[in-house]
Amino acid sequence: MITNSVENTSRGLGSTLQLHPLRWAMEVGVTLERAIEIALRNPLPRRTETIEIDDASGRTLAIDLASKVDDPRFDNSAMDGWAVRQSDCELSGSKLRIVGTSQAGSTKIPQVTAGEACSIMTGAPIPEGADAIVMVEDSQTQGNFVIIKGPARPGFIRKKAENLEEGQVALKAGASLGPASISLAATMGYGQLEVVQRPRIAIIGVGDELTPPGQKLSQSSIYESNTFGLASLAKKMGCLPSRYEIIPDNIDSLRDTLNEAAENSDAIITSGGVSMGKWDIVRAIMEEEGKLSFWRVLMRPGGPPLFGSWRKTPLFGLPGNPVSSHVVFHALVSPWISKSLGFDQWIGPRLSQKVSVRLEEDIAGAPQKLCLRRIKIKSEKGMLVATTQTHQGSGNVHSLVAHNGLTLLPPDVDGKKGQVIDALWIQN
Ligand code: AMP
Ligand code: MG
Repeated sequence: MITNSVENTSRGLGSTLQLHPLRWAMEVGVTLERAIEIALRNPLPRRTETIEIDDASGRTLAIDLASKVDDPRFDNSAMDGWAVRQSDCELSGSKLRIVGTSQAGSTKIPQVTAGEACSIMTGAPIPEGADAIVMVEDSQTQGNFVIIKGPARPGFIRKKAENLEEGQVALKAGASLGPASISLAATMGYGQLEVVQRPRIAIIGVGDELTPPGQKLSQSSIYESNTFGLASLAKKMGCLPSRYEIIPDNIDSLRDTLNEAAENSDAIITSGGVSMGKWDIVRAIMEEEGKLSFWRVLMRPGGPPLFGSWRKTPLFGLPGNPVSSHVVFHALVSPWISKSLGFDQWIGPRLSQKVSVRLEEDIAGAPQKLCLRRIKIKSEKGMLVATTQTHQGSGNVHSLVAHNGLTLLPPDVDGKKGQVIDALWIQN
């Protein structure tokens, strides 16, 4: 963890602001789509690295992966039983001579000719001459012979390359590597994988009133929560977060911390200090000394975020209200990360996925703003339904746990009970 001095709590706003010689073109009050578009002009760098497959869980594949082998590599049995010629087994009770055994991993496989059977295990190569498998349950051995009492099925032979052909691309760049894709990468012969490097994200909380959890609170202080939540969100998005110690509402401390963060990170996320207030120093310093691309997004909650760059490092200024900081991360920062790094949205959503839900109650929208109310989504009688559980104050962190989704109610639209609307279903 990176630490900064928190001693200096004097409010030095304005005293040391450095006016930027240029006025940057800045948009105020943009739609969420426009905000994402603007932020993507300054994306995260996409670097790659090669890692052991053992370490690949949760990482993002950087390149398309073509199979190094056919899968299966050779015709093999799907059952323990007998490799036979189907034409020898048309009558129940056929008696066939046992010619040997084919085991998984065997190299010496006997041939099967008319009137013969070869004992075979699941995954073992099919002997030359055999064209069907009889399950062991449908047979009885008698010395060197086996009596066939059930069907001989060609369908119990897994055919060479029926799953994948050598050279076939079965995992695409941008795929999130989870249990299934890691198994497939191994099946295709990859012991190492080229993955997207985890971008380093600095997370900086601003506010005189904030005290780290576990420490003693003063009369007017509160426990700080946003940097922990944002670090966890960044991690879930495949980033390497660095949580900086909380800095007071002091512009000199903020400048020092931003300089250090810009030096050591690929992006900076701040929390707090972006509204209209006198002490909203993140907005103030970005306006005067940074490069500000937009401020305020037409969404509720989470209206005041800003985006720009500090010493060329992209910077999101998120609102301090705890719910707003999460919601803005979901709606704005997460798409920016996933588009910057080329994440495939369809294989494994990182944080949330867009779904249709039926409202179980009326939910008010917001005038002129996209409305992201917290909802609890569950499956009922074959469809996803949504309710609200707690009050929706943007300081109520408990509401983030009591709900697992966000409405996507367009501006000026109220949601009515029974109506089907778009929502984000959050993987908490
Ligand atoms: P601000 O955006 O700085 O005006 O803060 C808005 C509200 O969010 C205030 O009630 C702050 O006390 C609270 N807040 C700001 N930052 C944090 C944080 N890191 N953790 C918890 N609450 C915060
Ligand atoms: Mg504040």
